[in-house]
Amino acid sequence: MAFQIQGPLTLQGYDERGRPQFGFSAPAPARPLSAPPPRLPRQEARLLPPLQPQRPAHPKGASSTRPVCTPDGKEPLEGYFTAQFGDSGNDYVTLRFRRQGTNRSFKPGQILVGYLAGPDNQSSYESFASVDSRGRCWIWHAYTGNQRLRQAVASVLGDQRLAGEAWARMSQRCWLCGQPLTTPESLDLLVGPDCKRKKLR
Ligand SMILES: [Zn+2]
Repeated sequence: MAFQIQGPLTLQGYDERGRPQFGFSAPAPARPLSAPPPRLPRQEARLLPPLQPQRPAHPKGASSTRPVCTPDGKEPLEGYFTAQFGDSGNDYVTLRFRRQGTNRSFKPGQILVGYLAGPDNQSSYESFASVDSRGRCWIWHAYTGNQRLRQAVASVLGDQRLAGEAWARMSQRCWLCGQPLTTPESLDLLVGPDCKRKKLR
């Protein structure tokens, strides 16, 4: 559909607060009714950009609230893990992945991730993240600024067995259940016989 301006043309531009910014007037175009309408030149078209809502390009905290994901998109194994930093062997974080009871009010049935925050290698864990059924580990708000914990989770999820065996070597305990390893074979495998049968494929 085409249209034609017959009378004098007045154009007025305003800013966001409605204050006039520019304006011009032109006489009616001297053009016969049968002539095609003129094309709007590109520069004029650009005078009126579409309105965009004001939004920061990178919402605050967006990068730190991304989940850390398992490589296969499945839930991780429960157990104890040592995430090593560097090659010295002295710089590490100990993590525990443990499923909440289904009768608990807080995240029932989900795997919670805790870091070793006290003297007891088996019970002094402070939870800081939870894992959903698609293997996505969500670090809780209060800990999203802790890059060391985030790196530790990424390292453990990247190779749970490697990180679990590192914990078992240090503690002489099965990395899947935390029970002491008592036989030479178990100490060699770094898991107890029951866990080897039930939990490792
Ligand atoms: Zn075990």
